[in-house]
Amino acid sequence: APSIAQFDPELAAVIAAESARQEAHIELIASENYASPAVMEAQGSSLTNKYAEGYPGKRYYGGCEHVDIAEQLAIDRLKQVFDCDYANVQPHSGAQANAAVFLALVSPGDTVMGMNLAQGGHLTHGNPANFSGKHYKIVPYGLNTETGLIDYDEMERIALETRPKLLIGGFSAYSRVKDWARMRAIADKVGAYFWVDMAHIAGLVAAGVYPSPLPHAHVVTSTTHKTLRGPRGGIILSKGQGEDFYKKFQSAVFPGIQGGPLMHVIAAKAVAFKEALEPGFKAYQQQVVANARAMASVFIERGYKVISGGTDNHLFLLDLIAKNVTGKDAEAVIGRAHITANKNSVPNDPKSPFVTSGLRLGSPASTTRGFKEAEMKQVATWIADLVDTMSAGGDVEAAVTRVRGEVAALCSRFPVYGARPG
Ligand code: PLP
Repeated sequence: APSIAQFDPELAAVIAAESARQEAHIELIASENYASPAVMEAQGSSLTNKYAEGYPGKRYYGGCEHVDIAEQLAIDRLKQVFDCDYANVQPHSGAQANAAVFLALVSPGDTVMGMNLAQGGHLTHGNPANFSGKHYKIVPYGLNTETGLIDYDEMERIALETRPKLLIGGFSAYSRVKDWARMRAIADKVGAYFWVDMAHIAGLVAAGVYPSPLPHAHVVTSTTHKTLRGPRGGIILSKGQGEDFYKKFQSAVFPGIQGGPLMHVIAAKAVAFKEALEPGFKAYQQQVVANARAMASVFIERGYKVISGGTDNHLFLLDLIAKNVTGKDAEAVIGRAHITANKNSVPNDPKSPFVTSGLRLGSPASTTRGFKEAEMKQVATWIADLVDTMSAGGDVEAAVTRVRGEVAALCSRFPVYGARPG
């Protein structure tokens, strides 16, 4: 059979260009990572051909004897990684896992409380443009805008007033430790289920460097491709809630919102969960946090405002309001210097979500390629040099050219795939 290059040179060129981009650019998007060659091998395997509606041992199709083993390996390893007694590995993505939780636990029109998207929440936690915001009555909670920290007293006040049936913990852009026990206490006061979407921090939780929500939440969802460093996908977990409760999620995923599971991705999840059980995974996650802190320290020294004053995880938000530079422009200029990050709204942002006044910076991907504190501080210095030049109306072109050359030299010393086993 012909290779992609032989059969479809047009597409082969796209893949080659994207691989080269990943090697030559510094990746600071907090939700991205580089999956291992073994994870990618599983995703490219013959398991993509198999229909397996149902669950291991209870399928609607024949010929599932091998994929059953793959899914059971993924389930068993995942339970071990997070020390829990229920795991569903079939959600195609984080958004699918979250949709299944809504379907399992609440009815259209019910009140649901989630973190404000503009203050660090996710689209699927109740944004009006998302199914969650369209079908449920959403009451948002957020940050104390002075401290940049979650305001739990205010959360409790809103919960007592609005009596949600479901309280959502978890975030896409919050750099501190969330108080899961306090949130569970608030949920208990109003008789709500407490659900944590740990998509961003799952890898840190797996390694024990961020508090696990599992002892506190009724249900936990996650993606598998962020700090957890697996294939793109979703998972649902729970602990100590009993089989009747778990059945709700089994049927919400299939047949509730999905048909055939992606068995090649489930196989890749199994590989990633095995990687997460290796001793090196903990050291990696510890380095992720150390690297995010090293970057944040440079910005703080140079007089930048870091939301909530620093970070306890893999990311933080820079507030550029005082610099008079928009998130959109900062993202574009550092992008031209081959540093990739994303614009992000900040508390009380005067700009629209398409423009914003913030940048979200994360360390998982660059830590995977081997950067330590020294390299991360260098990267933060380059970003601060570029944004300062923009802010001062200086020669941005010259600064971009200089930084781009230095980025190229650093990236060539830390190959993404060359440096890793497999
Ligand atoms: N939940 C959180 C907290 C996220 O940050 C994200 C993605 O950014 C998702 C869910 C959605 O995951 P996916 O993009 O796989 O649907």
